Amino acid sequence: MTGQASGAVEDGPGISFQLSDEIVMLRELVRGFVERYLIPIEMTVPEGESAPDEIVRPLQEEARKLDLWLLTVPQELGGMGLGLLEECIVQEELGKSKALPYRNNEVFGPYIDAMLLEGCNEDQKERFVMPLVRGEKRMCFALSEPDFGSDPSGLKSRALRDGDHFVLNGTKRFISNGDTSDFALVFCRTDREKTDRGGISAFMVDLRSPGVSISQRWPTMMGDVPSDISFDDVRVPAADLLGKEGEGFAIGQRSLTGARISSQAAWAVGVAQRSLDLAIEYVTDRSTFGQPLSERQAIQFMIADSAIELRTARLLLYETAARFDRGEDIRNESYMTKIYCVEVGSRIVDRAIQILGGIGLTTELPLEYFYRQIRSLRITEGTTEVLRWRLARNLIRHGAR
Ligand SMILES: Cc1cc2nc3c(=O)[nH]c(=O)nc-3n(C[C@H](O)[C@H](O)[C@H](O)COP(=O)(O)OP(=O)(O)OC[C@H]3O[C@@H](n4cnc5c(N)ncnc54)[C@H](O)[C@@H]3O)c2cc1C
Repeated sequence: MTGQASGAVEDGPGISFQLSDEIVMLRELVRGFVERYLIPIEMTVPEGESAPDEIVRPLQEEARKLDLWLLTVPQELGGMGLGLLEECIVQEELGKSKALPYRNNEVFGPYIDAMLLEGCNEDQKERFVMPLVRGEKRMCFALSEPDFGSDPSGLKSRALRDGDHFVLNGTKRFISNGDTSDFALVFCRTDREKTDRGGISAFMVDLRSPGVSISQRWPTMMGDVPSDISFDDVRVPAADLLGKEGEGFAIGQRSLTGARISSQAAWAVGVAQRSLDLAIEYVTDRSTFGQPLSERQAIQFMIADSAIELRTARLLLYETAARFDRGEDIRNESYMTKIYCVEVGSRIVDRAIQILGGIGLTTELPLEYFYRQIRSLRITEGTTEVLRWRLARNLIRHGAR
C-alpha cells in the first residue's frame, strides 16, 4: 500500500469523491479486527496510560497475521508506508473502541511519525528511529513549556554550542510519556538573539543523560499523566540536532499537522460514529410514556443533526488527507479539519449520552470514556481557539478559497 491515494479525491468544477478499492479493503480489514478483537473486550480492559502487556501482545500477534503491522513506518524501514488518508481510515476504525488507550495504542505496532522522519539523517534514523520501529525504545515529543503552550515567543529552553556539543537548560511541560520514554524530541532556542520561531532547533535527547529529571507529574481526567521534564546543563552531541539550527519550529509543525489530522480528527470521527450507533440502538429498544424513543421528534432531531455533522466531518477529513498525500499545502485545511472533526465528535458524544440517559453516564458503556478523551483534543496539539485564529489570519492575508 502506498501513500498515494490515487483518484481518491478530484478537484474540478465539482468535487468527486471515491475511495480506491485498496483503501476500502484496508478499512474492511481494520473494521473486522476492531469488531472481532477490540469491542468484545473493551469494557474489561483496565484503563491506564498503556494497556497491559498480556492484553496487547496477543492482539499484536493477530494484527501481524493480517499484515496490519508498522502501518506508518516507511517501506524502506520495513513498514507499510501508509499515506495520511489510509492512516486516517485506520484511526477512524480504532476510534470506535475504548479497548486500548487513545494516546498509546500500539496494537498495529509502534507509531512512527513520518513527518519527523523527514528531519532525520541516515545516521539518526539508524540510532533513533530503528530502535523505535523494533519496539526497543520509546520517545516523546517535548515542545510545551511552563510559559509556552500556544505562543512560541514564550519558549525559553536554550541549547548553547560548546564545541561538538550543545548544553541544554530548561523545562518542558505536560509531556506525554515523558516519564516512560528513552529519548525526547526537545525543542529549544539555539540563537541568543532571536526570540521568534526562527531561533528554535530540535534535538533528540537521551533521557538517561546526566541533568535530566522528571520534575512533576500531572494526572488528568483522561487518565494520562503527562510530566514535566527538566534539563539542567544537559550535554547533547551536535550530531543529535535534527535538520539544521533554526529548523526546529518547522519540524515540530510538520509533525503536529499530521497528528492533528490522523490521530485527532480521524479518531474523533470514529468516536462519533460509534456514539451515534449506540444512540440509534438505544432509541429503537427503549419506550417511555407508551411510545418508543425513536418516535420522539426531540430525539430524532438529535440523531439527524449528528448524522449530518458526522458525514460532513468525514468528507472534510478524507479530502484534507488526500490533498496532503498529493503533496498539497494543507496548512489551512488541517486547522479546519481538526477544529471541525473534534467539535463535531464532542457534540455527537454529548448528544449520545443525553439520548441514553443515565446509562450513558455509566462505565457500562464507552461513552463516558469517549467524552473525557475527546474533551482533551480541543486543547492538545493546538487549541481550537489558536487554530481558528491562525486560520482566520491566513485567510484574511491570502484570501479564502
Ligand atoms: C494530556 C496532555 C498531553 C500533552 N502532551 C504534550 C506533549 O506530549 N508534548 C508537548 O509538547 N505538549 C503536550 N501538551 C501540552 C499542550 O500541547 C498544551 O497544553 C496546549 O498546546 C495548550 O497550551 P497551554 O496549556 O499553555 O494553554 P495556553 O496557551 O495558556 O492557552 C490557554 C487558553 O487561552 C487560549 N488562547 C491562547 N492564545 C490565544 C489567542 N491568541 N487567541 C484566543 N485564545 C487564545 C487557548 O485556546 C486556551 O483556551 C499536553 C497537554 C495535555 C493536557
